[in-house]
Amino acid sequence: MAAVIQTSTTGKKNAYAVALAQFDKATSYLKGEYPEGVLASMRVPKRELTVNFPVKMDDGSIEIFTGYRVHHSTVRGPTKGGLRYHQDVDLDEVRALAMWMTWKCSLMNIPYGGAKGGVVVDPFKLSQGELERLTRRFAAEISILMNPSGDVPAPDVNTNGQIMAWIMDTYSMHVGFSVPGVVTGKPIEIGGSLGRTEATGRGVCYTMRDALKHLSMPIQGTRVVVQGFGNVGSIAARIAHEMGCKVVGVSDVFGGIYNPHGIDINALIAYFKANKHIQNFPGTEAVTNSELLELDCDVLIPAALENQITAENAPRIKAKVVVEGANGPTTNEADEILCDRNLFLVPDILANGGGVTVSYFEWVQDLQQFFWSEDEINRQLERIMVNAFHTVLKEADRLGTDNRTAAQVLAIRRVADAIMIRGIYP
Ligand code: NAD
Repeated sequence: MAAVIQTSTTGKKNAYAVALAQFDKATSYLKGEYPEGVLASMRVPKRELTVNFPVKMDDGSIEIFTGYRVHHSTVRGPTKGGLRYHQDVDLDEVRALAMWMTWKCSLMNIPYGGAKGGVVVDPFKLSQGELERLTRRFAAEISILMNPSGDVPAPDVNTNGQIMAWIMDTYSMHVGFSVPGVVTGKPIEIGGSLGRTEATGRGVCYTMRDALKHLSMPIQGTRVVVQGFGNVGSIAARIAHEMGCKVVGVSDVFGGIYNPHGIDINALIAYFKANKHIQNFPGTEAVTNSELLELDCDVLIPAALENQITAENAPRIKAKVVVEGANGPTTNEADEILCDRNLFLVPDILANGGGVTVSYFEWVQDLQQFFWSEDEINRQLERIMVNAFHTVLKEADRLGTDNRTAAQVLAIRRVADAIMIRGIYP
């Protein structure tokens, strides 16, 4: 069954087309195991909400914004997935990200379906007051779908703990009592979990460490390049540095910096806090984002946006290992090239699954009103990540396929099994 693919209005590559091509490849290994309709039902989102809503701006004008919330699957539990604020957000991007969330939750074997949301906005152009009013209005608009038993958002690109706090507060004001479990990635003071902010980057580093071990490459001195210096990228860079790697290049939206002898990541984080960018960090030379991806290194961690590794640059990537901190950073064509070149790829739904895993822990803690220690959270996170990593490796070996396809086969199979056991209503 062919899903309708909306052409992106921004001219960027269509992430949903990438997700569907991955799905088709993975399900070619499942043909005959399930009725065709069961696989077809997973190829399309379950429901999609588009909201157009007004926000009062500081100058007294009223601007109309567009936002989305897509539920890809509710089969294995409540839907889970982040909210993105970005000028290039469109429905197809949200559909793709929601589908990847279903596979990620399934692969990590946590009882959630996939969702994603976003608002078409450049949040850096808003004042703090405008950002708060936009967030509260968007939360009210999507509250027809959002609730702690049905759909639980979290941070994604350009959203953070403060934005989650406003969403939690807005929802709580409407129902008349505090509902911490309606979002994850909240500040600790209102029911957030220890370790959540670091969870995605930490999980990325667990899978990088296990990939290096699997390839008999030492972690000490391994040269790492990270694209994106936000929540995922900066924490992955810091933890890789703490694990003994040499982080030789990092970038943000404005460009990258490079030092073949290694960058002092803690000093860079302090510099970034003070300057809000990483450019001109002492002792580094400037590189563009495209040069950064092709730097001489052992491990490349794309941790920014989709479609960064393409057919154009894939032949020139020098890393031996790619660990996908971002969702969908590699196009289908680039995937084939990396495979042919024998690069070891840790796919997004595995590599960045630490975020949703600790979001799940946060939700469980909120529902039980009983909070765990950070050691306990990191121990449980590591157990789940290590287990998922080895399960994917074994499946790739069994099927004679690449890691991404193996991860998706495992994930899709779990969802398909759940559909079969639940049956088709009515
Ligand atoms: P963020 O907003 O905290 O950081 C994004 C970073 O990417 C920033 O440093 C920004 O400057 C940089 N960036 C933006 N556009 C870029 C471009 N064109 N080229 C290079 N850099 C660019 O977002 P985040 O939460 O770190 O998310 C990054 C990626 O990780 C996204 O793909 C997101 O979906 C994925 N992810 C995030 C989480 C999470 O817990 N936050 C979990 C799983 C996956």
